[in-house]
Amino acid sequence: MLTNFYDLTYEQLESLLKDHGFERFRADQLYRWVYGRRQTDFAQMTNMSKSVRDKLPEILRFELPKVVTHLKSSDGTEKFLFEVGGGDTVESVLIPADDRLTLCVSSEVGCNMGCRFCYTGKQKMKRRLTTAEIVGQYLTALDSLRASDNSAANENLAPRRITNIVFMGMGEPLDNPDAVFSSIEILHSPLGCNLSKKKITVSTSGIVPLIPRITASGARLAVSLNGVNDDVRSKVMPINKRWPIDELLESCREHCRATGDRVTLEYVLLKDVTDSLDDARALHRLTRDVPCKINIIPFNEHPGSGFERPDERQIVKFQNELIRLGSHVLRRKTMGRDIYAACGQLRTVAEKRRPAESHV
Ligand code: SF4
Repeated sequence: MLTNFYDLTYEQLESLLKDHGFERFRADQLYRWVYGRRQTDFAQMTNMSKSVRDKLPEILRFELPKVVTHLKSSDGTEKFLFEVGGGDTVESVLIPADDRLTLCVSSEVGCNMGCRFCYTGKQKMKRRLTTAEIVGQYLTALDSLRASDNSAANENLAPRRITNIVFMGMGEPLDNPDAVFSSIEILHSPLGCNLSKKKITVSTSGIVPLIPRITASGARLAVSLNGVNDDVRSKVMPINKRWPIDELLESCREHCRATGDRVTLEYVLLKDVTDSLDDARALHRLTRDVPCKINIIPFNEHPGSGFERPDERQIVKFQNELIRLGSHVLRRKTMGRDIYAACGQLRTVAEKRRPAESHV
């Protein structure tokens, strides 16, 4: 059976090639051709002998997610709907900001975590994505970007690069750790996609025992907090019953001690649930000894969620209270609303299902 090249870390490729009688340095050559030059036609890999080029198709294939739709928002956000294996679809969103171009990738089709503000959480997880399907969201988005930049034919513009990856799309990344961490290795590999690990962020709903794997991977950590005490958080995020706030924040502190990084704490503002000034004060007290930045995310409403977005005045008051108390707080800008690409607006199948909320 042929192995999908994009499923393999560099070491796994070396080992596969060795098992089939190839020299180890063929892995180096293949990574450079495929990731560096985006060449997947073995016949064109001219620094290899013909006999090697003829044998490689007997063990390797190249298969990436296919673009079903690619929509562009008036604010510059781009949304891809990808068909992955078996007819399943997932979405990735490309978000421009200042000098960054961030790709938000999915790790699962659906999600079992059941966060109540999240439409994806209402869809049972159908399956975990493979490494190739995760890396493929990046590669296919990048290829599409380059193709559209070329067809724009503006020679004065440098080709765009995806500078950051966030695992905040559909699914809980730590529920699919092997594929997620293999894909981080490939995304980071200097011979692979060559992205700094500090530009890759894994966002978790709080699977505490697996947070050390994020620490070990070198990626940045983001945690969905979304509640200032266990009562509220358990109502909003059932995972809190298993790993309550104390344990979660202690694992964040450990991550910060080990890496010297700050953690991003995501906090969704739900009207009359998490948005009062008392909540802001409690949030400050809870997090003041965690090296962190707090990312507040006003809820993007969707039908049947049972939650409402606070009004603008309350959002500003909440943020200002945190600033007054000395928290490092940012408000996530709502991007891509007109193409249903903002948090809370992703859809799993274009135009057929109700809006889905991504991991926040
Ligand atoms: S917020 Fe993230 S972990 Fe929670 S249900 Fe949605 S996708 Fe899953």
